[in-house]
Amino acid sequence: MADVKALRCRECGAEYEAGALYACEWCFGPLECVYDYGHIADRIDRAAIERGPASLWRYKALLPVSTVPGGALHTGFTPLFRARRLGAELGLRELYVKDDTRNPTNSFKDRVTSVALAKAVELGFGTIACASTGNLANAVAGHAASAGLQSFVFVPASIEQAKITATGIFGGTVVAVDGNYDDVNRLCAEVAGTHPWAFVNVNLRPYYSEGSKSLAFETVEQLGWRAPDHCIVPVGSGSLLTKIKKGLDELHKVWLLEEQPQTRISGAQAAGCAPVAHAWEQGWDIVKPVRPETIAKSIAIGDPADGVYAIDVVNETGGAFASVTDDEIVEGIKMLARTEGVFAETAGGVTVATLAKLVADGVVRSDECVVAYITGHGLKTLDAVQGEIETVKTTPRLEDFTAALEAHGIDPRAEAAGRAPVMPFASAASRFAENGD
Ligand SMILES: *Cc1c(COP(=O)(O)O)cnc(C)c1O
Ligand SMILES: [Zn+2]
Repeated sequence: MADVKALRCRECGAEYEAGALYACEWCFGPLECVYDYGHIADRIDRAAIERGPASLWRYKALLPVSTVPGGALHTGFTPLFRARRLGAELGLRELYVKDDTRNPTNSFKDRVTSVALAKAVELGFGTIACASTGNLANAVAGHAASAGLQSFVFVPASIEQAKITATGIFGGTVVAVDGNYDDVNRLCAEVAGTHPWAFVNVNLRPYYSEGSKSLAFETVEQLGWRAPDHCIVPVGSGSLLTKIKKGLDELHKVWLLEEQPQTRISGAQAAGCAPVAHAWEQGWDIVKPVRPETIAKSIAIGDPADGVYAIDVVNETGGAFASVTDDEIVEGIKMLARTEGVFAETAGGVTVATLAKLVADGVVRSDECVVAYITGHGLKTLDAVQGEIETVKTTPRLEDFTAALEAHGIDPRAEAAGRAPVMPFASAASRFAENGD
């Protein structure tokens, strides 16, 4: 049995049985999963989790599902690595990257989808659907194929072709809507009332959003059961940011962490769609909708459902919001790729560029243990960086190659020296030592 006790309204506290509900009947507030933490605490400990599957299901006790459907793709438990070179470039002593590009459909949306799909099967749905900015479409279509369910995904017609192709390939129905994400979302709310489909981020949203907590759980475990000092999180609807906070707090509630985590949480938005960052800067307690205009399409949500809750978390934890321009996003993508060998999509560029800005502003401190969430893969948003790439063109003759390098002003020896590690790894350090450096 899942330990989810009920659904509770975040606004008025009314409680409901845990079914396919998402809005309070009294005040239309969003519903949230409520657990019996005492019961969960009795049944889990660090050792049991460490023996669990190398996926988000090692945290099943803290997720709102009873059974994991067969054929489920391998979601979660993605690498958390020490980003020494990026850290050195930004002036951070202890920076980590949580690399969620390495999920089955290459974004963190595999987490929310895995949980929602398991719940959909449990509730008896045969069709899953979603309103998506692209990544969720990939995930829903892929996971539906894997579990043998039908899928309908709704996306703005203007999203990246790569994301449409990487969705349609799984065989479900892709509906390209002439409108932005907020229009798609409204249409889906109507369709959800017409067809008996499990819309993962509409009528199953209370369960779906719980999948994001697994990013916090894994981070803490991978840091050796230690909460980080500061998390940098990209913000679309704001759900992921709020769930990282919920996940951190739950680890203490079930005694996987002895102390209440003091983690600061900061939000990253694209300047072309920054309604949450803007409201935070202005000190507003509402988020005014905007019309999105940015290359960071996966987080281009003009009317974010969890915007005000994300602001609460940032204020409560002593974090901040910042937003970055499209040029800065491209620089962020390039910086992460050049320093760490990780190719992120535009939302990842938003995270890295925002981190750089928050360091420059003194919000993120050089001595903090910082985790940057890289939530989607760069192959999905090639258009954003295609113009940035220069190749050295040559015939297959050595002398032409040498001349071409010269024409580009590339000195092969200088290039090699410039690529020496900023902060040597253990093996490199010992090699330097042998050389008497
Ligand atoms: C959806 C998405 C986000 C933001 O998630 P929200 O929960 O809507 O704030 C961040 N990064 C990527 C790549 C996404 O697809
Ligand atoms: Zn209510």
